Amino acid sequence: MKDSGLKKLSAALVLAAALVFVLSFTAFAGAGGFGVITNAHFAGAEWTDWCTDGTVLTMENSYPTALCFGLENQPEGLSGSVQYSANIQGSGWCRPFENGAVMGEPESSTPFESVSIKLTGSLADKYDVYYRVLQNGAWTAWVCNGEHAGQDCAGLYVAGIQVSVRYKGGPDPTRPVIALTFDDGPSSENTPRVLSYLESVGGKATFFMVGSRVAPNAELLKRMIADGCEVGNHTWGHENLTGLSGEQIVNTLNATGDAVQAACGVRPVVMRPPGGSFNDAVLAGAGGLGMSVYCWSVDTRDWKTRNAQSTIDHVLTNAKDGDIILMHDIHGATADACATLIPELVNRGFQLVTVSELASYRGGGVPGSVYYSLR
Ligand code: ZN
Repeated sequence: MKDSGLKKLSAALVLAAALVFVLSFTAFAGAGGFGVITNAHFAGAEWTDWCTDGTVLTMENSYPTALCFGLENQPEGLSGSVQYSANIQGSGWCRPFENGAVMGEPESSTPFESVSIKLTGSLADKYDVYYRVLQNGAWTAWVCNGEHAGQDCAGLYVAGIQVSVRYKGGPDPTRPVIALTFDDGPSSENTPRVLSYLESVGGKATFFMVGSRVAPNAELLKRMIADGCEVGNHTWGHENLTGLSGEQIVNTLNATGDAVQAACGVRPVVMRPPGGSFNDAVLAGAGGLGMSVYCWSVDTRDWKTRNAQSTIDHVLTNAKDGDIILMHDIHGATADACATLIPELVNRGFQLVTVSELASYRGGGVPGSVYYSLR
């Protein structure tokens, strides 16, 4: 069950010849949404067939000699196309091609050094096109809208490509959103894994962190911010806040806010009370510090089961548009679960957003107010 979506997608992309693809999954869009599709010809092989938005296109011991890009599910009323050019080794930048035209020489052995892709017309007003290439054994950073992916004139070639569109200014209103949240960390062992799974699909999440764990993991907090994730406040020592005075509540929240800010430069504007326990004093304390309070609508009970499959099943069975999902990134089993459930949620069309993004999109985020989900 956990793999059914991925298998379906992979099956659709299976090649006639026995060519080996490393993997394919949907990065940002796909799953029925608007996207850029890619068809590549690999040296010594054949055309791959059209692959949906977000597919990773690589082939062991080969590289593309020709590329085509097209559009899938172009939204009604939006004009324009996808335009692309490339630096072809030995001959420099080629003229721009458009909408499925073949760029490069399929039957040659000449590789691309770098690639540039952009949307035109009113599509370009609503969507950004992101892409990256595999070069010298590693993926380049994502670039967008006509920037060069790949290093020019460095004797390097493009060995693989991944292209995906994103709706400008936040989630695409035509697709569902979900906020994954991770409590009680960070954990030097497991949080980096969760961040990598998010990174690989361009997804975001919110980390409600315990202040005492922050300073030794400052690099992880910087990575969260760089990845577009949100840093949240989960008190200094995981206190049950309903047993504290107003002053004590403010102190533990402020100490954590200071630690997070010192580590990554960003002060949390969202908090989650440990155990989800709050009273009027907690809401007043958080509100006075400019923070809104986020509980959850889907509880994986991952801290109790410590069972990856149970966490995967719980999320995939229960997650709906606007849900806030509770997990804990201090447990290895939760990181294991994320390896499957993060790509699968995206594969099912969910956009993974932070709680503040969810609030800005659906209405919410008022300091001192508490939210369980935002539909
Ligand atoms: Zn907690």
